[in-house]
Amino acid sequence: AKEQGRNTYQFYTEGMQEREVRRLELDHDLSEALARNQFELYFQPQLDLVTSRACSVEALIRWNHPQRGLVPPVEFIPLAEESGRITEIGRWVIRAACQQIRKWRGTPLENMRIAINLSGRELGEADLTDYLARCFREFSVEPQQLEIELTEQTFIENVEHNHQQMRRISDLGVHLAIDDFGVGYSSLGYLRDFTVDLLKIDRSFITDVAERHDDAVITRAVINLAHNLGIRVVAEGVETEQQLLFLKQHHCDMAQGYYMSRPVPAGDLPAVIARGLLP
Ligand code: C2E
Ligand code: CA
Ligand code: CA
Ligand code: CA
Repeated sequence: AKEQGRNTYQFYTEGMQEREVRRLELDHDLSEALARNQFELYFQPQLDLVTSRACSVEALIRWNHPQRGLVPPVEFIPLAEESGRITEIGRWVIRAACQQIRKWRGTPLENMRIAINLSGRELGEADLTDYLARCFREFSVEPQQLEIELTEQTFIENVEHNHQQMRRISDLGVHLAIDDFGVGYSSLGYLRDFTVDLLKIDRSFITDVAERHDDAVITRAVINLAHNLGIRVVAEGVETEQQLLFLKQHHCDMAQGYYMSRPVPAGDLPAVIARGLLP
């Protein structure tokens, strides 16, 4: 039994070591990916429920891996956050989004806003606002054309520092959105304390919103709460006409999800927008 215990322990350490090796490999691959320009932004339109037109798009990162193909963010963003590599990736995202806004100038996508995702770790970087301002200048982008999505955790971690950073970003003219609203911590105080322009209701409330009474009640309450605070609301993960009708009926401002469009490469976006987001 003693021997077995030892083997188990050794097996366990081997497992840990293997995992550590894989982590290091992935981190090395991520730095290569940055150097070789293997990242790409996909864009998912957000439908304005009043005008029935696309007013903005969310930028979602993809990794074109030479061997593994298109790698989704869940497979590398969490590790990049742990290793700190997320800072460089985030900077790449900010720059690519600004570059894209400039490319759209003089085309039908001229007034499209881009929402990017930033992790708490990126918000922690002292020179983030300088970097944003530099990119705006380089690509002559109006700060109002960029939105930054932050998850609820960001509003309750490092409160003082994050609060200051958000104020500085907001002072630049960049809009802030709370991502995945409703699945994090339940403190609502930050809605009062922070300058928030948009709130994104998490997909988990939307999935059954047209069938389940409790999801409907929560979604309606969140829309009313936000509106009474002067915050606009986006519903995430809209996949059916029934969900969309419910959201329209209850005065949700915007909807995003596969029912309108999946995230697409920049080259496909003009056609998606031109054909309209509704059948
Ligand atoms: P998120 O910010 O909540 O993004 C929404 C995710 O839901 C996206 O997954 C999107 O493709 C997916 N989605 C959109 N509509 C629907 C729908 O109708 N049904 C379903 N089932 N899913 C839908 P994706 O692109 O795989 O991104 C996953 C997460 O990775 C994002 O969640 C975000 O947290 C993170 N992420 C993506 N891009 C970036 C980035 O550039 N920087 C950072 N820090 N995180 C990113
Ligand atoms: Ca998001
Ligand atoms: Ca989300
Ligand atoms: Ca999410």
